[in-house]
Amino acid sequence: MARVSGSLPCWDLSNVFPALESEELKRAIARCEAGLNELERYLDEHAISKSARRSDDAAIELALNGYLERVNDLIALYHTVGAYIPSFVATDSFNQTARRMLSEIEPLGVRLQQIDVRFSGWVGAIADALPRVTARGGPAQAHAFYLRETAEQSRYLMSEPEEGLAAELSLSGANAWSKLQGTITSQLTVDFARNGKVEKLSMPALINVMQHDPDPEVRRRAYEVELAAWETVKEPLAAAMNGVKGAVNTLDKRRGRKDPLHAALDHARIDRETLDAMLDAMQDSFPAFRRYLRAKARRLGHASGLPWWDLMAPITQDGRTYAWQEARDFILEHFATFSPRLENLARRAFDQQWIDAEQRPGKRAGAFCMSVPLVKESRILCNYDGSLDQVSTIAHELGHAFHNECIYAAGKTELQSITPMTLAETASILCETIVTDAALAEARTPSEELAILETDLIGKTQVIVDITSRYLFEMEVFRRRAKAELSADELCELMLRFQKETYGDGLDERYLHKFMWTWKPHYYFAGLSFYNFPYAFGLLFGLGLYAIYKQRGAAFVPEYGALLASTGEATVADLAARFGIDVRDRAFWKGSLDLIEARIERYLSL
Ligand SMILES: [Zn+2]
Repeated sequence: MARVSGSLPCWDLSNVFPALESEELKRAIARCEAGLNELERYLDEHAISKSARRSDDAAIELALNGYLERVNDLIALYHTVGAYIPSFVATDSFNQTARRMLSEIEPLGVRLQQIDVRFSGWVGAIADALPRVTARGGPAQAHAFYLRETAEQSRYLMSEPEEGLAAELSLSGANAWSKLQGTITSQLTVDFARNGKVEKLSMPALINVMQHDPDPEVRRRAYEVELAAWETVKEPLAAAMNGVKGAVNTLDKRRGRKDPLHAALDHARIDRETLDAMLDAMQDSFPAFRRYLRAKARRLGHASGLPWWDLMAPITQDGRTYAWQEARDFILEHFATFSPRLENLARRAFDQQWIDAEQRPGKRAGAFCMSVPLVKESRILCNYDGSLDQVSTIAHELGHAFHNECIYAAGKTELQSITPMTLAETASILCETIVTDAALAEARTPSEELAILETDLIGKTQVIVDITSRYLFEMEVFRRRAKAELSADELCELMLRFQKETYGDGLDERYLHKFMWTWKPHYYFAGLSFYNFPYAFGLLFGLGLYAIYKQRGAAFVPEYGALLASTGEATVADLAARFGIDVRDRAFWKGSLDLIEARIERYLSL
């Protein structure tokens, strides 16, 4: 892994609150509590509940507008506190004060959720008055999409006491299973010999060795040790999977959902036709991905496809490294070719210390961007190592910050800007693509170009091919779980079956990964089934928009900003139609996949 010299920035949130133990933060938390009390009283006073007696339009309008104003303010305050305190935990998990404060504010979030359930039930009960009330202007009209969606989704709520009981029981049911999966997979350790000494490695550390160690022999051994380790905990993990999927099946049935996919599609704001069009196009692209995998296998000396431990392996050491200042300049230069607005936002992020880039003990891995509503800014966490991969990660997170900026600048409220996972990656993928394209254009040697393409294709293979294997696996697990529990061995068999169906002869059949279901946390979130296809959607939709930008140039930019500002105010199909995109048409998805295939062809020619 590349290393950077010189100091890297840490983020600064002192304009939000002066310190963790400041009076200002205490007062903000107290305001949150007071706001919740007041809102709960408000619901009582205006008889806002599922079983409320019908009232006239004027009373409904009054109750709605008052609620929307209050709840938006409260959510903005809660999200700001809920960004500030975790910012200390994310960068220093040893910070006991921050951890204690975080667990103290969590119950506030639960109360907010209960208020939401009550309000949703009421909106369902007054649904037929909504078209008249939202036509009369004011906050109700400004939130027409949110209210319509809430009314539609309220059909899938059980009675208030049933929902309350389900929420409480989830703590000792599905949530407990999910926590068990987290505990087992994070506490399991193995002894691993490397460089003449034996180390105790956690599973994430071992997986990191398996994926990225420069020595192929070390990667292979790590793979074998990993599989053997999962073998020892497969039974409790299978029990956790059965517990979570069983609970989801039961609740879905009681709530009147058609099948386990139903809720996931509604949350993603797409329909089945759209998902099928995308998945079919992805399926059609598998032969190209398999050609890439076989070519990579040959480069690494494997005759019959790539073994699992080489999926993410580096093929060359020729990647360029970027000092922090170079990364900043590179990003700003190429963002400027897109729009001054994007460049300005990125410049603010760099200059006003929105980014925490340094790697240090106790800081969480990976990268994310969070919005801080009260100051209308974002903050970005990453672990910068000087590689191009990290430069494009920063560009990606800056894309999220730009998305937030478009929402703030348009004056949208919290409830107007609830963005589905399918659209959340629109801006980030576009920014990432700008940077990767620029790096490819500037590559000085074929082997540097190859290194860039390799990094890019490793990621794309995960999002298109591996995601499909996870989607098919989850679908089959839900189907079988409805009839009986699945054994650990049955889960392994299914995993292998879907890896073979998707990767095909790109991978060596003897060395697949039957335990991928054990450690991906997404399978164990009861509230987030099928947390896989939205990744593919985000990538392909972002690439599709990028292709339109390439055709239309500057004319595209303001329309794009308007799209980002309204990702919480329409279905995905309606928003896409503004750009002439038909998400139900397989041809649109094929167009995005063609861009990836062109990169594969280039890779094969080098
Ligand atoms: Zn992202």
